[in-house]
Amino acid sequence: MTNCPICGSSSTRFFTSLNTPYLARDENYRIYTCSNCGHGVAVGRQDDQYLAEIYSDGFHHSTQQDTNDLSAPIYVNARQRVQWLTSMGLSGRLLDIGAGKGAFVEAAQAAFSAEGVELSEEAAAEARSRGIPIQSGDFLAKEDDQTTFDVITLWDVLAGFRDPRRVLAKCRDMLKADGTLIVTVPMVDSFVAQALKRFWPLMIPPVNLQYFSRRSLEVLGRKEGFELVGFELPSKKVAANFLCSKAFRSVGLFSFAEFLGKAVPAFPVSLNTRDIACVTFRRTV
Ligand SMILES: [Zn+2]
Repeated sequence: MTNCPICGSSSTRFFTSLNTPYLARDENYRIYTCSNCGHGVAVGRQDDQYLAEIYSDGFHHSTQQDTNDLSAPIYVNARQRVQWLTSMGLSGRLLDIGAGKGAFVEAAQAAFSAEGVELSEEAAAEARSRGIPIQSGDFLAKEDDQTTFDVITLWDVLAGFRDPRRVLAKCRDMLKADGTLIVTVPMVDSFVAQALKRFWPLMIPPVNLQYFSRRSLEVLGRKEGFELVGFELPSKKVAANFLCSKAFRSVGLFSFAEFLGKAVPAFPVSLNTRDIACVTFRRTV
């Protein structure tokens, strides 16, 4: 049992449990959902040392990131995201949190004064070697903040934090008064999540510790000084080999998944399972 990290309710119910084999060790996680706001949270090993090992330098050598091909899904997604932000009339200074090797920041430089922050020193250093301004380190620990950003983006990273409210509070402090925060998150109230439970491909604790609902996103924003002004369930380009490999991994066929990850080409496939939300928050206080 655990209290909801979003609304604080102690009324939670068991959703599913699973073992995840990160770092070649099985760790058991139990997922609870909040009876009040619908938010899902993983309970299980998530201490600093374990998470640091998970996000060590190997994390960014995934099939989706390890490429210089500009037609690869990661670059296609990055360019589409930049177009989408500019279509909303956004401009100015942009900070990308969890920037990886900088594919999005690089694309965003066409329309913004863009920079990033990334936990992995190796990924950040690789980005910098290509002229992309990515600082390494934990953005929550940074103290040199000024309230200067027009836009902050968290692409597929908010779900990995133990305390999402603290993340939003920090983003609020770093944004201008009417600044915009964009997050993409896994949705536990989606049909796919409810149907597949522990076989849901996004059910990957401790990489995802938070599983959102429409209501939990609204509550999260409101509690930390944001208004939820946009909610979409966009499609996304993924690499065919990543998709095949993910499908087999989710049903436990790990060596077959590894084989397919190498054997199938990495061409982009458009996918919309309506279980990832792209949320726009505007700073209100
Ligand atoms: Zn709740």
